[in-house]
Formats: sequence, structure tokens, C-alpha cells
Amino acid sequence: MGKALIIGAGGVAGVVAHKCCQNHEVFEEICIASRTQSKCDALKAQLEGGKTKVQTAQVDADNTEMLIALIKSFKPDIVINVALPYQDLTIMDACLATGVDYVDTANYEPLDTAKFEYKWQWDYREKFEKAGITALLGSGFDPGVTGVFSAYAMKHYFDEIHYIDILDANAGDHGYPFATNFNPEINIREITAKGSYIENGQWIETEPLEIKKVYDFPEIGEKEMYLLHHEELESLALNIKGIKRIRFFMTFSEKYLTHLRVLENVGMTSIEPIEYEGKQIVPLQFLKAVLPDPASLGPRTKGKTNIGCIIQGVKDGQPKTYYVYNVCDHEACYKEVGSQAISYTTGVPAMIGAMLVMTGKWKKPGVFNVEEFDPDPFMEALNKWGLPWQENFNPTLVD
Ligand code: NDP
Repeated sequence: MGKALIIGAGGVAGVVAHKCCQNHEVFEEICIASRTQSKCDALKAQLEGGKTKVQTAQVDADNTEMLIALIKSFKPDIVINVALPYQDLTIMDACLATGVDYVDTANYEPLDTAKFEYKWQWDYREKFEKAGITALLGSGFDPGVTGVFSAYAMKHYFDEIHYIDILDANAGDHGYPFATNFNPEINIREITAKGSYIENGQWIETEPLEIKKVYDFPEIGEKEMYLLHHEELESLALNIKGIKRIRFFMTFSEKYLTHLRVLENVGMTSIEPIEYEGKQIVPLQFLKAVLPDPASLGPRTKGKTNIGCIIQGVKDGQPKTYYVYNVCDHEACYKEVGSQAISYTTGVPAMIGAMLVMTGKWKKPGVFNVEEFDPDPFMEALNKWGLPWQENFNPTLVD
């Protein structure tokens, strides 16, 4: 059917590439392009022997001209951006210049400000509309599947949704005293930032990790979870009818948080550059360099993740509650594609989003979040491509 250019060669890109190759009828050809070509080549070596043609390229995705040249030579139908959020705008610019559709899994963030907001990418709406191309934003798990879950609930089970709690639990154990499951810089920036949630149309800000709850997760058990700011809150609050409150919680172990507190107290999580031996370095970027590479956690991680949405609202005048979630097993993911479940739960939806745009099911000119499209084909594809979901109409609520 067509060609996809995958930008990035980290944990998530590895899963996207494997899944595109499994789905060879849609993805006949892929090009894996990243800053370090050897990583792309190593990934290509894992994919040999399948029906999808794989090639690799070196690209600096901060450089729009270089991206344009690559897109012009490979001629993809879609660009799947699984590099870092800092590259979103340069890649969107390159897509505009070449008339190619765009998918990503995380919203743009300037390097010097740890602030997750859609405004920069939503500002591209008119340009994408005029160019007649699609930008699908946040097609990972959270954001991504959590938005599709919410849209599915709205379409099939509710007249109005009043409350959404997004619960992201990871009961995986990689055996290291401290490591992050995806890019450490992005992960730590997210956790050390102030928390926030939306209530009655207003953002309510909390101190970092101020709100803690305990929840008994299906197939995982009781976990402590903390309220975080998360990017899908912003788009869901706009796109889901009747919403009064939306919150996001993620589980962390006490051991993880103790390490994080120490690193924070000694200044290692700062994004302010400091001078070291005549060179400017950013402490958090240096920390990333000494921590285990998330892509290396795959063979060591045991246990499961459970990510889903608890939704409360009204149907036919009656109050209704609905919990929809996916449970993913780290070891099973590793066996299938050589990655742990965090990369897997992000990479599979990125492939699905790209597939739906390529096949025309989710194709319309403009910039969109996942919940703005018909959730049904995405939900079907989740079951087919490795992230089956479960429903509970009488769940325990967070409060
Ligand atoms: P990794 O750090 O493992 O991989 C990032 C990749 O991007 C690396 O291969 C890196 O290259 C490459 N890269 C970075 N800068 C550039 C550049 N300027 N030009 C070209 N390539 C570049 O990250 P992950 O795979 O864990 O995460 C990928 C994305 O997925 C991130 O944006 C993350 O925020 C997002 N994510 C989304 C989730 C969701 O559920 N929505 C969950 C988890 C992650 P190099 O190897 O040279 O460093």
C-alpha cells in the first residue's frame, strides 16, 4: 500500500518499525532515520527477512532542510515522528514543505521550558488544512489510546461524560536501583514539574507529586499513584462533551521517588545549563547519559503495565461508570519485538495511527488529536495488533 518514514531509532521507534513490518500489507516500505545511523542499521538488522522493504538514513531532525531533502528522496506517504518532542515543529515544517502526512506521540516542548502544551502544534491547523495534509497528534498510549478510549466511551456508552481519571500503572521491575522506562530526560521533566488537572474548565495546579492515591489495579494489585500534569488533559477537556473534571495519575515506587528526590536535591534534574570544565552542560542531559538506556531494559523487565480510563457520566438520564484498560506484559513484549511494555504500548498505537491515516480512515486536512476521529477502527486495531482492552461497568472509583 505505501511507505512510512520513521524518525528516531530509540525504544519506541524499534516497536513502530517491528509493527510496520508485521503489517506489511499497509507498510510496504519503511525508512528508519535518526541522528545516529548505527542505531537505525542495528534495528534494520533485526527486521531482515520480512516482506516490508527497510532502509535507513542519517538525519538531524532539528534541521528542517535536511528533513525536506530526506522526504524528497524517500517519498513517504507518512512521517512517523518518534524522535523527541523538541523535533515536532521542524518535522511538521518539513511535512508542510513536502505535502506529507504527519503522526507523533508527544507534544512539542521547547528545550528550555518544561511545559507540555498543544498551542505550538495547534497553531499549525490552518497551514495543514490549506496544504490538504493530516497531522495526527499524540498517537501513543497516553496521550493516544487514552483519548481513543474516551472517544469510544462517548460514542457508545454516554450522552455526557463528567469525570475522567486516567490511570497509568507500571508494575514492571528491571532490577536496576534507578532507571526510567522511556527517554529519561522527558520522563524526569514530566515528573518533577508541577502537577495539574482540569476542573470546571480551570487548570488547578499542585506541587510536584502532591496528590497521592492508592488504587487496586486489575492484574497488578494495589499501587501508589500520583497526580501529574499530562498533555491529553488539555485536548480531552476541549473535545469531550460535558466534562467537569479530568485527572491523570501515574504509579511510582517509593524507591524510584527516593532516588529522584536525591537527584533533584543535588541539582542533577535541572535543565539550566552549567559550565563544566569550559563547556556548557545541562545536568539532566548528563544524567540521561549515565542512566541505563531505556531500550536496554527490555531483556530485564518482568511484570505488567495497566493503563486505562475510569469514566463517569450520564446515559439516558442515568448515572453511569465505565473503566476501559489494557494490561501489557513486559516479557511478552520483549519476546515479540525485543522491547519492554512502555515502548510497546507507545509504538503499537503510533503504527495504528499511521495506518489509519494512510488507509484514509483517519485522513482529513488539518491538525487533530486522536479523540477527534471515529474511535472504532482504532479500538479494533488495538485488539488485532497486540494491545487488547477490557471493560468494567462497575469499577472502584479513585476517590
Ligand atoms: P529514546 O530516547 O529511546 O529515542 C529517541 C530517538 O530520537 C533516539 O534514537 C534519538 O537519537 C533520536 N533523536 C533525538 N534527537 C534527534 C534529532 N535531533 N534528530 C534525529 N533523531 C533524534 O526515546 P523513546 O523511544 O523512549 O521515546 C520516543 C518518543 O516517544 C518521545 O517523544 C517520547 O516523549 C514519546 N513517548 C510517548 C509516550 C506516549 O504514550 N504517548 C510514552 C513514551 C514515550 P540518538 O539515538 O542519536 O540519541
